[in-house]
Amino acid sequence: MSRFAIGIDLGGTQVRAALVDEQGNIHRRVEERTDAQAGPDRVLGQIRGLTEQLRSACEPSTIAGIGVSAPGPLDTELGLALDIPTLRGFSNYPLREELRKRLLLPVSLENDGIAAAVGEWQFGAGKGFQNLVYVTVSTGIGGGIIADGRVVRGRKGMAGHVGHMSIVPDGLICSCGGKGCFEAYASGTAFTKRARARIAECAETSLAGSGEGIDSRSVFIAAEKGDALATALVDEEAELLGRGFTSLIHMFSPEIVIMGGGLSQQFDRLQAGIQSHVERNAMPAFRDVRVVGAALGQNSGLIGAAALASFSRRPSSEL
Ligand SMILES: [Zn+2]
Repeated sequence: MSRFAIGIDLGGTQVRAALVDEQGNIHRRVEERTDAQAGPDRVLGQIRGLTEQLRSACEPSTIAGIGVSAPGPLDTELGLALDIPTLRGFSNYPLREELRKRLLLPVSLENDGIAAAVGEWQFGAGKGFQNLVYVTVSTGIGGGIIADGRVVRGRKGMAGHVGHMSIVPDGLICSCGGKGCFEAYASGTAFTKRARARIAECAETSLAGSGEGIDSRSVFIAAEKGDALATALVDEEAELLGRGFTSLIHMFSPEIVIMGGGLSQQFDRLQAGIQSHVERNAMPAFRDVRVVGAALGQNSGLIGAAALASFSRRPSSEL
């Protein structure tokens, strides 16, 4: 009989749930908009509702457990949401225990960057590697690291908050309150903000006058059509990503760096610029590290969370 796990990806915008088998295949997937301002009771009720839909799609005894990926910082040793900025009321909240009470199944909890890294490692672009760095570039920047064939969790399970390494001394203010963070320069949000400001100052771009209607996609489309400012903005984004990735390559010596998240939809256009930054700026011994796009798209975290739920039931698991 095939065994399943349920993966939950709790985000500030969407909450998604999927029934995933041991090969990482999604059998059924459901989602709804997160009621982010309503507080933990309501959000956990949403998770229970989605989980029940999935349970009715298979024989309940075949479900090994539930894995939850949530934005951090989470203390995954204690099962606490320390402070989730995008979800109201999730401050020092006993997320794992409250979920276990409602779902009546074993629950594993993971910071979202680590869950997505595990998904890509087990079933996606990182399959077969012992050392990799996964970076999600979206509203913010997060990540997860696999080193020596094991998940790097660090103190409280909070390793991999790679968006908050400083790349510009005394630079732009970040969502975390710090200055000059990688996220404040290279996230999808930072890219759109920079694009809007530069377009407002430039008369000779096809995007002039588009104002708040400009998003990252429209800039990439304009660059594709040869717009000089849009091309410069895209090349600059690749440089900034390359700068952060080069530091991560020096720190962890991965075989590959995997880029996921919303902006990775444009990975084909960004890849050459990122790779060229690494080749020019990494120490010679690190210059051959490849940067690749995530293979599981928006499902890395869902599939990773499910994998963690089913593997954590096995003895002597290294996950
Ligand atoms: Zn920061």
